Amino acid sequence: MAVIAGNWKMHMGAAQTRAFFAELDLDESASKNELLIFPPVSSLGVAAACPDRDSRIQLGVQNIHWQDGGAFTGETSAAMAAEAGASHVLIGHSERRHVFGETNEEVALKIAACCSHGLVPVVCVGETLSQRQEGRVDEVILGQLDAALQALEGNDGRFLLAYEPVWAIGTGETATPDDAANAHSTLRTRLEAALGLAAAVRRPILYGGSVKPSNAADLLGAANVDGVLVGGASLDPRSFAEIAAAGGR
Ligand code: PEP
Repeated sequence: MAVIAGNWKMHMGAAQTRAFFAELDLDESASKNELLIFPPVSSLGVAAACPDRDSRIQLGVQNIHWQDGGAFTGETSAAMAAEAGASHVLIGHSERRHVFGETNEEVALKIAACCSHGLVPVVCVGETLSQRQEGRVDEVILGQLDAALQALEGNDGRFLLAYEPVWAIGTGETATPDDAANAHSTLRTRLEAALGLAAAVRRPILYGGSVKPSNAADLLGAANVDGVLVGGASLDPRSFAEIAAAGGR
């Protein structure tokens, strides 16, 4: 079983969301997986109410604010996301960190807000190309993981981790299965040290970065890769179904 998650970013309005679910044809093997879609928040209600949505697909939001409410123009709270049908939240996606300047401290506050409202955080970590060239992959991803673990301390709830090398997101560049296995094993070892073996194993680590039908099976076969977080290829129902089928094999 694998986790197959689609991050629609700022794509897929209401009509496209309905069309996606109407066209999505999941094969039997896909039902072995945990399937997640993160639509833009404006399409969340439509996705939640869509009669064509396969009930195996859970929904999430791509970001939340850590406050429960208040004068925060343009933001969505964890409680609002949950009420609108989200069960999961992407936290610290690289576009949030690098385009919007989100810090590890804000990531921690958002994780805490998820925990208070019964939402499952999907915490994204990953290095930039220059950090990779400087040989700082482990330092960067463990620093991001440690900040997240502090926020999760004392919380036994579920969370997912996504290793998303920034240089591979939306670029067509993909980490090799070996690159993914190395980073995932670094993360798993830290999870084991922090949580103990059994608890660490229950925390899936997804790989994200230009995953598509042609490379999904190889990446999902790499050690410690428990699923994939898919951007561009998740917008097409056929690609998403093929990736989900790869996870079920
Ligand atoms: C993402 O948005 O998390 C992502 C991995 O995007 P893409 O698959 O398009 O690289």
